[in-house]
Amino acid sequence: MTTNATLSHPAPATSRGAIAGGIVLAVIAVALAALPQIMPLSGYVLNMLMQAVTYTVAVLGLTVVLGYTGQLSLAQAAFFGIGAYAVALGTVDYGLGFWLSMALGLVASAAAGAVLGLTSLRIGGHYLAMVTIAFQQIVTLVLVNSIEFTHGPDGVSGIARPNLPGVSLTNGRAYLTFCIVVLYAVALGVWYLRRTRLGRAMQAVRDNELAAGVVGVHTYRTKVVAFTISAVLGGLGGALFASGFSYISPDQFSFAESVVFLTMALIGGVQSAFGTALGTGLLILLPEWLRFLKEIYLAIYGLSVILIMVFMPEGIWGLLERIARGGGAKPAAALVTPRPFRLEIASDGPAEFLETRGLAKHFGGLRAVDGVDLTVRRGTVHALIGPNGSGKTTLLNVLSGLYKPTAGSVTLAGRDITRLAPHERCAAGVGRTFQNIRLFRSLSILDNVLVGAQRPGAPARGEAQLRERAYEALGFVGLADKASELVGSLPYGHQRLVEIARALAGQPALLLLDEPAAGLNPTEKQDLVGLLRRLKGHGLTIFLIDHDMAMVERIADHITVLNFGKRIAEGSPRDVLRQPAVIAAYLGEVPTHGAA
Ligand code: ADP
Ligand code: MG
Repeated sequence: MTTNATLSHPAPATSRGAIAGGIVLAVIAVALAALPQIMPLSGYVLNMLMQAVTYTVAVLGLTVVLGYTGQLSLAQAAFFGIGAYAVALGTVDYGLGFWLSMALGLVASAAAGAVLGLTSLRIGGHYLAMVTIAFQQIVTLVLVNSIEFTHGPDGVSGIARPNLPGVSLTNGRAYLTFCIVVLYAVALGVWYLRRTRLGRAMQAVRDNELAAGVVGVHTYRTKVVAFTISAVLGGLGGALFASGFSYISPDQFSFAESVVFLTMALIGGVQSAFGTALGTGLLILLPEWLRFLKEIYLAIYGLSVILIMVFMPEGIWGLLERIARGGGAKPAAALVTPRPFRLEIASDGPAEFLETRGLAKHFGGLRAVDGVDLTVRRGTVHALIGPNGSGKTTLLNVLSGLYKPTAGSVTLAGRDITRLAPHERCAAGVGRTFQNIRLFRSLSILDNVLVGAQRPGAPARGEAQLRERAYEALGFVGLADKASELVGSLPYGHQRLVEIARALAGQPALLLLDEPAAGLNPTEKQDLVGLLRRLKGHGLTIFLIDHDMAMVERIADHITVLNFGKRIAEGSPRDVLRQPAVIAAYLGEVPTHGAA
């Protein structure tokens, strides 16, 4: 490898603005933490701050599960309660001390979160929301009714505050400072999480769960981890809360409180740790500020919440961010010349790279794929053509693991992959794109490709290597200079290229493309042909669906024709496109236009 004079992979550009912002934030943070020490706060203000701080810790859990991962949880108050009661009962009834009680509370929250997550997150949809509502009710029932254990509706009083070695936290102001420091640590962790492999996987699941799976994200595990983190943060907030107020009762942990937690997260901006803190503070202070309005204050409070939610779907923080982004100049594109793209593909093994035998997928009575035998040879471009509705996309979905076949088998390089989940097939070397582009909409182009680069089993390891791979793949499709832009802002043709780059960054051995030329103009199609040829030159095996016969004829080594789910022809482009059965299948169908 030649050493390049230019930077091969950029360090994240830390602009002066970011550094200044960081310094301002740090100063505010230190000032806030010191506030209880230097200002003579009344008990009333102290309590309000205590509530805001401990609530924010719990609401930050929702940032992880809802904001980052897109899973709705309605039991945050229950986890808050588990943490609070662990500290209350542990210190008051069992004499366990604060730290041990809190640890037990966190373990209990984590265990409950993991069990709920494991049982409800395997399937998509809103099962988690339903299961968490039920769990919330169970916790409330236990807190109210199992009087011998929880003291019932009377609650628990006389909860002690902890001590740190050499520092007594029994004083309210000292304890508040301690809670603020814990909050900072949690907020920093949650903020940083977003930039890690796990955080990217979470956001990929949120933006497009199906696509996340095929680029290698273990979607189920990611969701369970997110929910468990959220439960632990709920428990932590509750534990701090219990000692903060020294008295707790079941009504503080009811379903209504879970809704309040959720509202706090949504109002501030659930996708950001700062937004969450802002929303929580606001919802605790707002009722106090509005109190002078006497009877109508609840109505005004409710109305402001609704207005904010309707007109600021990304929360207050989202709006502020948008203003900041629109006002300031766009982030300068990093001046990078990525290293040339390379694929590491094992060249040994059978020449029959991908094989299906009797592969079938039925939807009720509809035989979308009906007993297909297919052999894709190593290092070739193999095209799958056929009229609309002939089962091409369905076949691709079976190959990439999105559908379980009704019958038949799929073998990759001699290994039976029929039973593997999408992320496992990705790890085995299968990459793909979608007919209807499926990108991670709220992520930057670079982050989209990074999710692909970090697939399990990929050669790239650390963050720097991942970035390098991502830039290589982006450079290969000609988009390295746009890396920091949001994918939504890209023209359609470029979005298709990002999808290809995302698949390539994972270093696949087989690339499945579903109508990659659909919606492209002639120049873009020309570029795509060039791109596919270069990929073939790297030894990549390509299996592509397309409608554009002229294009297929130019790049395919081999063609399979599908009609009504059955293979009706097979062979070289020359032979196949002249067969009467193929021509007949296309009658009434314009074979050169790309249907979406
Ligand atoms: P193609 O990609 O060749 O245009 P598809 O594979 O998308 O065709 O569809 C093949 C047939 O299977 C069509 O009749 C379609 O309506 C049906 N089909 C595809 N996906 C599903 C599904 N998830 N449920 C029911 N029917 C489906
Ligand atoms: Mg299709």
